[in-house]
Amino acid sequence: MPSLQTRYIFVTGGVTSSLGKGVISASVAKLLQARGFSVTIQKLDPYINVDPGTLNPYEHGECYVTEDGAETDLDLGHYERFLNQPTSQANNITTGRVYQSVIEKERRGDYLGKTVQIIPHITDEIKRRIKLLGSKGKFDLVITEIGGTVGDIESLPYIESLRQLKWELDGRVLVLHLTLVPFLNATGESKTKPTQHSVKMLLEEGVQPDILVLRTEKQLSRDLKKKVALFCNVNERSVIESRDVRTIYEVPLLMHEEHLDQIILEKLNLTSPGQINIRKWRDFVEKVKHPKKTVKIGLVGKYVELHDAYKSISESFIHAGAANNCRVEISWIHSEKLEEEDVAHELAGLQGILVAPGFGYRGIEGKISAIRYARENHIPFLGICLGMQCAVIEFGRHVLNLQRANSTEMDAKTPHPVIDLMEDQKEITEKGGTMRLGAYACRLKKNTLARSVYQTDLIQERHRHRYEFNNNYLQLYEEAGMKASGMNPDTGLAEIVELKGHKFFVGVQFHPEYHSTVIRPHPLFVHFVKAALE
Ligand code: GLN
Repeated sequence: MPSLQTRYIFVTGGVTSSLGKGVISASVAKLLQARGFSVTIQKLDPYINVDPGTLNPYEHGECYVTEDGAETDLDLGHYERFLNQPTSQANNITTGRVYQSVIEKERRGDYLGKTVQIIPHITDEIKRRIKLLGSKGKFDLVITEIGGTVGDIESLPYIESLRQLKWELDGRVLVLHLTLVPFLNATGESKTKPTQHSVKMLLEEGVQPDILVLRTEKQLSRDLKKKVALFCNVNERSVIESRDVRTIYEVPLLMHEEHLDQIILEKLNLTSPGQINIRKWRDFVEKVKHPKKTVKIGLVGKYVELHDAYKSISESFIHAGAANNCRVEISWIHSEKLEEEDVAHELAGLQGILVAPGFGYRGIEGKISAIRYARENHIPFLGICLGMQCAVIEFGRHVLNLQRANSTEMDAKTPHPVIDLMEDQKEITEKGGTMRLGAYACRLKKNTLARSVYQTDLIQERHRHRYEFNNNYLQLYEEAGMKASGMNPDTGLAEIVELKGHKFFVGVQFHPEYHSTVIRPHPLFVHFVKAALE
């Protein structure tokens, strides 16, 4: 139990989106955790969707799933990977969710005839959800990242809530504002005006930032920092430079060099419970920056133009690469453009093939061709969720000769529905939050690759799907060499399939990528990369 009153750090962003507020928030949290504080991070998303589960990955990148089955923003993945601790539904709040609960209360009559307004009702609901994480006494510090850019109409109620909390929780709130300092090639200068303007915008909304973090390509001069301090009412020490780095995992180290953690503690009147301990983190970053070899792995998916759609997978490869002293070079392969006859050419030179999760029929045949190639040519293969389902379809069609074997998601009339809608999904019509979501148990069978990878017999992994392996076909598959090596102990659902006699061919119905962290790289990824290296 923390002995102190919870402190709240808010991270806002100015000038432009995509400055890396999520990584800065996670880095601050990492440093404070490394000093012995208990920390959590929360993301406020100003859009009206209740959660990002219904959003197209092109819109919003990957949808990250927590242990408790919340479909959330991909920044929560960064939080977990940095802190090595789980987040939950409470760590991601959207405008949709806030309005939904206020409107439900209004319908119940909870507001006793009052006019329901943005201030105080929406802001009260936002503040309640921010303070909820601190109120359980579990955390010394709650870091809240406010999505969007200061000045957006959508984020106004959040900034207003922050303004109110600054007064209410006197001395226990700190605001860190992230901005961009562009470098103008024509004049050879770094410019501070966008930062000044974005701080002015925050001030107009009633919030004075305490610390400014400036994203920049070039090193910033002392004079520039002085100028920013002068115009933005902060002391010079509180103007922190955040230079572009090779890997996001270097950011905590860089922020520590800039004394960001020390300054935060001073401003929040906190003393560190212990010496900072970031040795393991440093070792990891060294391995990422100086790999001994490179291994090339193909990631086959239909959203590959947008790498963020597979964020947790690409990060898992960084963790697994470091564990194997190598760098995983991902070759992004568009499943829709992969034709059966060019597969050998397109996939030549790959040491491993991962077939990604996904929904709908688009690109499905390309995925199946890639799997056939991996199976027939003994190339290490990992199929995740839809990737696993495609491996089952491929085996059905080409090994078991089940004509037109398919998932009923792709072909409702297939004569061989080797993948079929789960029983409890059949009545569901609503799209949001209705899949099989979150952590479920999986029992691993003896003498299987899965068991030797995990080194245990019972695991918990996270899910996000509606379809499953059709157990009517299980015996047929097992006799032909595709084994269900992991099963849900309660429902008998096949969670893992693997191929006998192949050096590494694994399909998983769950998402191991949501579980991989810097400190705990996921064993499936570690062994997949190891097999690819051999
Ligand atoms: N579309 C498949 C299903 O719903 C797979 C989902 C996924 O890959 N996450 O079962």
